[in-house]
Amino acid sequence: MRRRNYNKVNMNEFQENYEERRKLYSELLLLRANHNELSKAIKLSINSSGDERQRLISQSKNLKAQVRFQEERLQKVESALSSQALQIPNDSHPEAPVGPESQARLVKIVGTPRKDTADKILEDHISIARRLNILDLDQAALVSGSSFYYLQGMGAFLETALIQYAMHKAAEHGFLGVITPDIVRTSVAYGCGFQPRSGESSQIYNVSTAGSDENSTHLCLAGTAEIPLAGKFAAKIIDESDLPQRLVGYGRAFRVEAGGRGTETKGLYRVHQFSKVELFAVTTSDNSDAMLEEFKQLQEDIFTELGLCFRILDMPTEELGASAYRKYDMEAWMPGRKKWGEISSTSNCTDYQSRRLSIRYRPTHHTGQNTYFCHTINGTAIAVPRIIIAILETFQNSDGTVSVPQVLQKWLPGQPSVLF
Ligand code: AMP
Repeated sequence: MRRRNYNKVNMNEFQENYEERRKLYSELLLLRANHNELSKAIKLSINSSGDERQRLISQSKNLKAQVRFQEERLQKVESALSSQALQIPNDSHPEAPVGPESQARLVKIVGTPRKDTADKILEDHISIARRLNILDLDQAALVSGSSFYYLQGMGAFLETALIQYAMHKAAEHGFLGVITPDIVRTSVAYGCGFQPRSGESSQIYNVSTAGSDENSTHLCLAGTAEIPLAGKFAAKIIDESDLPQRLVGYGRAFRVEAGGRGTETKGLYRVHQFSKVELFAVTTSDNSDAMLEEFKQLQEDIFTELGLCFRILDMPTEELGASAYRKYDMEAWMPGRKKWGEISSTSNCTDYQSRRLSIRYRPTHHTGQNTYFCHTINGTAIAVPRIIIAILETFQNSDGTVSVPQVLQKWLPGQPSVLF
């Protein structure tokens, strides 16, 4: 937590609660044992005098009340302890740079950033998309609010083409294609390291269902398909011989993005709802570093095939979120915005999510019944809106048209090489 400059959990209080829980629990065990002894004694006292038996019965009642009282105290401390424990982040990789975003380590740059020239000022995606008539922001603002959008015509097909391309690309690499549910239980979101019910700071939309009351299941909109994909393995024990498992999931991601107004939120850059193709893997504990590198390579291949200029960053400790042990971000050069913009990230969450969701494996050469926690890895194959920004701005031509990356053409109606 120090390396992450993270101070949301008071460790002194946490330790006190931990010790208190230990003490209360062993006292409870003792009380229960005494109560059991007494119950046995009562059974055996059939032939004792009425007074003696009465004395034992009232002692037992007294002890039962003490057990209940102790159970309530324990339950209170356990619930405080577990809500604190849920907020404790993962450990971080010893080679992850320490510090804030500015400490990100540049791993590599692919391509050359396209810049304005004397005879061409590069346009931003909003004006390009308006000219091509593929984006309707005004009516979306009326229907759903700001930071929503309609993609239409070739814009709509650009989205489906990107999804098709990414799903197929991942499937060629052995990933199992999955369509995920977009509504999930908050307990699964917590298990992945998200904080659905943390009030204003939460990025997650809660779902209230008709007639729901305090005791009903809490549901939320998935902020990323990582949540339902991780949840697919919850409470499972997997044979080591069935690992690693690689999934590629298509789902809609929903983000509150409160307070994020300004130029970033104009157009498609920071929206409340977007389509995303997500990579996810479950591995043994000694294979997750290698899987993270595999994910990074696949992402690099995808963005290279799309012809984008992008850079890969090894993210510093303060940028790892709760669950990641190590994370690489990818940023594309967006010539109209005239800056780098994050398009993708991939994280090794080691056993952080597996412990919370109880995802285990049984070793092939096991002795006894031992099982171990799996490691989980996630990564963005395509987050559609920002890839559309990068494509429109990177491949804009002087005649107002936009060239279509070759790998997408076959997924578009008419297989066009330019949009106009
Ligand atoms: P994350 O799950 O936050 O790492 O996001 C994965 C990818 O989704 C990011 O790299 C962005 O490309 C994209 N993304 C995240 N938030 C938004 C948003 N509010 N609007 C559009 N794209 C987003």
